[in-house]
Amino acid sequence: MNINEIGELELAGLFFVMYLSKKMNNNNMNSTKHFVLICFFLLPINILAQSDSSGIKLLGKEGYIEVLQGNMPLVISIPHGGYLLPDEIPERPCSNCAKHQDIFTIEIGIAIRNSIFQMTGFYPYVVINNLHRTRLDPNRNVGEAADGNKNAELVWSEFQNSIDTANAQVTKRFGKGLYIDLHGHRHDIKRTELGYLLSSEELQLEDDFLNSESFVEYSSIRNLIGKNLHSYSYSELVRGGSSLGSLLEEKGYPCVPSLKQPFPKPEEPYFSGGYNTTRHGSSSGGTIDGIQIELDENLRSDLKKRDKLTTDLASVLIEYLKIHYFPEFDFGSK
Ligand SMILES: [Zn+2]
Repeated sequence: MNINEIGELELAGLFFVMYLSKKMNNNNMNSTKHFVLICFFLLPINILAQSDSSGIKLLGKEGYIEVLQGNMPLVISIPHGGYLLPDEIPERPCSNCAKHQDIFTIEIGIAIRNSIFQMTGFYPYVVINNLHRTRLDPNRNVGEAADGNKNAELVWSEFQNSIDTANAQVTKRFGKGLYIDLHGHRHDIKRTELGYLLSSEELQLEDDFLNSESFVEYSSIRNLIGKNLHSYSYSELVRGGSSLGSLLEEKGYPCVPSLKQPFPKPEEPYFSGGYNTTRHGSSSGGTIDGIQIELDENLRSDLKKRDKLTTDLASVLIEYLKIHYFPEFDFGSK
């Protein structure tokens, strides 16, 4: 699968300076003025390139999969926010499979990335599926995801391989990191649901049960449980004061699991984490932990709420990384 690197801004800047240089030579300007002028024009181009919200963008076949390159140990994937309905990939014929779009999750994921850059100078990786969920569901195994369509299978592989590559880069450069699979739910209870591969029934268990090896061994944050900066137990990491859910609650976002809502009550709807959280988290090994975030529809569809949400989510993710992974938050050259 070919992936083309796009760097339009940098290229445009280079051509502009070459043009400028040629024009100045034609005007017989002296070399000092020449140099100063080139620096003058290079400076804003360089700043623009760094602050360009897209960063380095990698596009897959037909732009179905989009990868925004990162330089910090956070990877965010967005499997269900896509809009594209191409003829070459018709609607999946399955009748009992979920096909609804997680509306505005692409916009939210990109805005989180931009906010984190503004707050820290570092970009998380973002992997986006631009195909509509009627065409592909990349949070399922390939059989269910593509439902037999060969083109859709190729796009599925591209999405999964892009996350694998991002996680491998994070592992190589930082040794450990966090992977977020970003979704939106339409449940009646307006709260954010966080998935660690624990079912609703399992979350209802006492802490001591939850902390036993039989639950830890298939957790999507298994690596963090085994070795974390404060020696927190599994239950503390999932619903203690420093858990992702509690940090979100502190910002005013009801969240389960968290200190306030340690588990969904029986019969309450709850998403525990899907294929991506299982595959790209640390349940089967590795040092990249995974958490599925399900934002409620109310938060996503209101533009004013969405702006605040993306800023708050960005600061909570930074805080979470500082508490549990990288207190210095120093990731080298920006
Ligand atoms: Zn989803």
